[in-house]
Amino acid sequence: MALNCSAPDTGNMEVLTMFGTPAQRERWLEPLLDGRIRSAFAMTEPEVASSDATNITTRIVREGDEYVVNGHKWFITGALNPACEVLIVMGRTDPGAERHRQQSMVLVPRNTPGLRIERGMSVFGYDDSDHGGHAEVFFEDVRVPVGNLVGGEGEGFAIAQARLGPGRIHHCMRSIGIAERALELTCRRVLERVAFGRPLAEQGVVREWIAEARVAIEQLRLLVLKTAYLMDTVGNKGRTPRSRRSRSPPRARWSGSWTGACRRTARPGSVRTLRWPGGRRGCARCGWPTARTRCTCVRWPGRSCAGTRRGTEPRAAVGRRRG
Ligand SMILES: Cc1cc2nc3c(=O)[nH]c(=O)nc-3n(C[C@H](O)[C@H](O)[C@H](O)COP(=O)(O)OP(=O)(O)OC[C@H]3O[C@@H](n4cnc5c(N)ncnc54)[C@H](O)[C@@H]3O)c2cc1C
Repeated sequence: MALNCSAPDTGNMEVLTMFGTPAQRERWLEPLLDGRIRSAFAMTEPEVASSDATNITTRIVREGDEYVVNGHKWFITGALNPACEVLIVMGRTDPGAERHRQQSMVLVPRNTPGLRIERGMSVFGYDDSDHGGHAEVFFEDVRVPVGNLVGGEGEGFAIAQARLGPGRIHHCMRSIGIAERALELTCRRVLERVAFGRPLAEQGVVREWIAEARVAIEQLRLLVLKTAYLMDTVGNKGRTPRSRRSRSPPRARWSGSWTGACRRTARPGSVRTLRWPGGRRGCARCGWPTARTRCTCVRWPGRSCAGTRRGTEPRAAVGRRRG
């Protein structure tokens, strides 16, 4: 929150930067960049396999100067946040068009009549409410002006793909932050915890694990930096001269690989961190079980908690289990 780098806001900012009209940028992008409002991205639907965006069934039908939206979404991150003022909604404008040209995206202010937030959802028992939670949302005859269309009609799938590259690399950056935090917590803990007459830090395997984690995090940080550099210099779909020769995949797909690599690195690190606290108390205080869950889901709040040493309370109860 302090850095304004949470999902889904960063991806939505990218969409508005790349495809928003000047009026849309002024109305939504500027307050988002300033951190004055939050946003949500509504694509996934319970009824269809939504990892394939061409399956999305929500209808967006033009009637005069308005689009009418009808659909059912879930896992919509941030929609429950009181500061969330706008949703980017993906739906079908032309079911008869070519498969990848059927979808469009519209901006729906959260207070629009017909937009109904049914409930907050949980992931492995955690509601993630500290950064807005994940909502099940109904759109029932929701009307927005045609000026709320993002890009053109039929460009929704392409916009979703364009959002994916930056979205993935943002997840990588957040995952590295979590991995770094896990290592920091680990280093503190193994210095203060004593087993068999010595601090854990003096047990050989513990030092080896810490060294491995340090090396892995540094490797990933450099890989992500390189990918970010390439995205800045040759674009999401660009290829370096070498990769063009070797027909290797575009950078956006590379960033997908780094997402997996970051997740794999952060997750074992956090599993070990869970082990070292040696009980529930340490975990509950730093919110680490939630972080590990988020790592598994590759969904990061972009925030960290601070202070797990005895007598030091976390600065923020980030990721603490609710209910
Ligand atoms: C914490 C969290 C936050 C989320 N936030 C948002 C949000 O803000 N907005 C939003 O629109 N959605 C959000 N989602 C939903 C997420 O984007 C979808 O869950 C995801 O796109 C997969 O869609 P699905 O759940 O319909 O799974 P399905 O498409 O039904 O897929 C089912 C399984 O098949 C696997 N699978 C799919 N395709 C392949 C393939 N080609 N090869 C191998 N395996 C495959 C998937 O990995 C998955 O395990 C969120 C999900 C979570 C967990």
